[in-house]
Amino acid sequence: ISFSELKLSAPIQEALKAKNYTHPSPIQARAIPHILDGRDLIGCAQTGTGKTAAFALPILQLLTESKSRRTPRRPRALILTPTRELAAQIMDNFEAYGSNLPLTSQVVFGGVGINPQINRLSKGTDILVATPGRLLDLAQQGKVFFDSVEIFVLDEADRMLDMGFIHDVKKVIQHLPPRRQSLLFSATMPDAIIKIADTLLHNPEKVEV
Ligand code: AMP
Repeated sequence: ISFSELKLSAPIQEALKAKNYTHPSPIQARAIPHILDGRDLIGCAQTGTGKTAAFALPILQLLTESKSRRTPRRPRALILTPTRELAAQIMDNFEAYGSNLPLTSQVVFGGVGINPQINRLSKGTDILVATPGRLLDLAQQGKVFFDSVEIFVLDEADRMLDMGFIHDVKKVIQHLPPRRQSLLFSATMPDAIIKIADTLLHNPEKVEV
């Protein structure tokens, strides 16, 4: 299977060519069609399988295809991930795959000053990649709003649990608009993650690699 068979648009395929990606990885081949169909999804996949592109590519395509109903400048896609390294990598991937698209992305994480992040957020963004604690902090200060989120990704859900972030994750989920598409990625599926999946996802497709 090729990226064009996955019905990814020409600007995205051009960006993939620039990255020298020739073929989709198994998680990409199996997850992308469901995500483009607007389905919720559980992806059982480890880092290194290409799972970032499995959600980033269809999100970029969906955001370009659909007219935003949002309050201007507020995030339309929100990606929660446990560490700042992952957050920075995910943001880099969105920038690379979306380099030919008129979409903007930003990243926020803890352990660094909050004010530069507040300044950048005030300019608005289509895609926001975040770690949970800093995101809640910014939301409580009224610097980020969830009401325009159309697509939500919970990345590395089992590591969120291991690192003690699950309470923060649940708080974020409570603030999301009920009408949204949600994707959950996890290497393992402990009971606590299955419970979260039940509250977060609506009739999800399951993809395991
Ligand atoms: P991830 O599992 O998302 O951390 O991706 C692992 C690595 O594979 C990253 O360096 C990606 O840039 C790379 N990658 C993702 N998808 C593909 C692909 N279809 N072809 C070649 N490399 C890829």
